[in-house]
Amino acid sequence: SDDVSGKVVLITGAASGIGEQLAYEYGRRGALLVLVDINEENLATVCSKACSLGSQDAISIVADISKLEDCKRFINEAINHFGRLDHLVNNAGIARDGVFKNVEQISDIVPVMDVNFWGTVYSTHFALPHLLKAKGKIVVIASTCGWYPLPRLIIYNASKAALISFFDTLRAELGWDIGITIVTPGVIKTKLTQGDLLQPVPAESAEGCAKAIVKSACRGDMYLTEPSWIRVLVPLKV
Ligand code: NAD
Repeated sequence: SDDVSGKVVLITGAASGIGEQLAYEYGRRGALLVLVDINEENLATVCSKACSLGSQDAISIVADISKLEDCKRFINEAINHFGRLDHLVNNAGIARDGVFKNVEQISDIVPVMDVNFWGTVYSTHFALPHLLKAKGKIVVIASTCGWYPLPRLIIYNASKAALISFFDTLRAELGWDIGITIVTPGVIKTKLTQGDLLQPVPAESAEGCAKAIVKSACRGDMYLTEPSWIRVLVPLKV
């Protein structure tokens, strides 16, 4: 249904960018929120603002989604507090690759897959029994990079392609028991896109992006992309 009022929505990476705006948009619509991030300070601020916008109850949990035990803990805390889970919004992600042939320490780029892919898989694993019980929804913020790879983001691209494949497979396995919306944004103005790699490309607002995501998830869309999100994929120089 279109109504998220009173639904329990867990958002990872809620302390900044698209996740922060998702917290506000779900909050405005009266959802009960579980906000997860590694950034404790920003998270507390976002949590109280989401409440002031209309969420009846919001809790914040400091956790690193790339750690299995953390994911187990935040799902348990969400269930202990609210007794149910209706939406899982897999949003947390990082990008820090560089040109592959210049990578000196392979361990520098491993966290990109650990957070973006494995962190999302862990979160989904622990949330799934509760989502099935609630006939709930999963939203995953992948990226256009998962369809059309951009240079200098090699592991990031791979992690997003892996997420698209993972959630397409999960949907095939689960049928219509739960809704799965795969979102592939273009360039959105956040901390993630502050570097010079994407400078030539016009960035869109995180608020507009978040509004489109919540609408699409409520409608039960399988995929969300926008023409303007795809257009940014002009070949960028290495
Ligand atoms: P952002 O850096 O502003 O926000 C990401 C948030 O995730 C931060 O608050 C950060 O602390 C948190 N985070 C990072 N690692 C974490 C971890 N291990 N555990 C818990 N939280 C963690 O970036 P954003 O642009 O808002 O990105 C949100 C999502 O959108 C990411 O998955 C990103 O890949 C995706 N995305 C962004 C764009 C864009 O143009 N900004 C485009 C396509 C997809």
